[in-house]
Amino acid sequence: MSVDLLNLTPEAARAALAEWLTQRGEPTYRARQVVPRLWQRPVARWADATDLPAPLRAALDEAFPLTGLTLRTHQVSTDGTQKFLWALDDGEAIESVLIPEGKRRTLCISSQAGCALGCVFCATGRMGFRRNLSAREIAGQVRELVLRDPALKPTNIVFMGMGEPLLNWDAVDATLTILNRAEGLGIGARHITLSTVGILPNLVKFAKRPEQFRLAVSLHAPSPALRRELMPIEKKYALPQLMDALKQFHRRVTLEYVLIGGKNDSLETADQLAKLAQPLEALVNLLPLHPGGAPDLTPSTRAQMLAFERRLKQRGVEAVLRRSRGLDISAACGQLRVEVEAEEHAHIE
Ligand code: SAH
Ligand code: SF4
Repeated sequence: MSVDLLNLTPEAARAALAEWLTQRGEPTYRARQVVPRLWQRPVARWADATDLPAPLRAALDEAFPLTGLTLRTHQVSTDGTQKFLWALDDGEAIESVLIPEGKRRTLCISSQAGCALGCVFCATGRMGFRRNLSAREIAGQVRELVLRDPALKPTNIVFMGMGEPLLNWDAVDATLTILNRAEGLGIGARHITLSTVGILPNLVKFAKRPEQFRLAVSLHAPSPALRRELMPIEKKYALPQLMDALKQFHRRVTLEYVLIGGKNDSLETADQLAKLAQPLEALVNLLPLHPGGAPDLTPSTRAQMLAFERRLKQRGVEAVLRRSRGLDISAACGQLRVEVEAEEHAHIE
């Protein structure tokens, strides 16, 4: 099988191209013309790279065919949030959500089809694990937007779509490079956030990367007992070890905390959370529970969310209560795909 250049970092793609060009007796400077067509000024097919000689385009198409993601559903929310459901070659489906906010356009991307970790509040978790995505499929979510309209190019990326990025480390590692390098998508490391429940061995690998990528940790509970109720991963990578690992991470961490009515939203729980967040000087992101994830859980009341936020601030913790975006188009973790499947199911029955 031929090499897929879109799975390689730009450096590796340039090296593979240089070797191939040499074998064909072409000047190696051609590699510098070809590489930008992968990510920087992408083309859907080599035929569209009209700055290259036609015979070279045809040969590239033979040796390194370009494949994209197929847009299956596109929804635009009344608040401007856009949701894209992509079909992959093998029929799997993944989603990305584009959230405009002033001058920023944040794209929330998926790293796996489904997720094995089964957090009780999460629609992706309910779906179970289907498979890992390749770097082409992860970074491809950005590429497809740029192909459609360069003005859609995101300024910020968050790995908060479907899947656990640190359980797909090799592809995510390459994707981080593709997103960040000037010859790739050229998005600044501080504008790229990886969100994880805390897969410790791979968290260390992420922390070792020299770039200033941002880290968000899905905490959702400040005690091991409560966390175990919400997130089965707590049995494998327990909260105390996770907190120790975060102390070693020499950059500011964001703690994500979904507020679930009567579960993790009491003021005593806020005090426990403050004790964890304060020594880390972490930012706490409070997220209203998206109801689609778990029919048996209820979001906290607005009053309780505000009280929880206020309590954290009183304890010296920087906390932000996020708005739910794209609620009318089910734009949260795994929601759209689950809906489309439910609809398809309904049609079959
Ligand atoms: N697996 C990674 C990244 C994807 S989930 C992780 O869990 O961090 C991205 C974020 O969406 C996580 O913080 C997750 O807790 C949140 N999320 C999942 N289901 C949600 C729901 N029903 N309502 C609000 N946020 C949810
Ligand atoms: Fe997986 Fe993250 Fe959803 Fe948990 S919250 S099931 S880790 S995608």
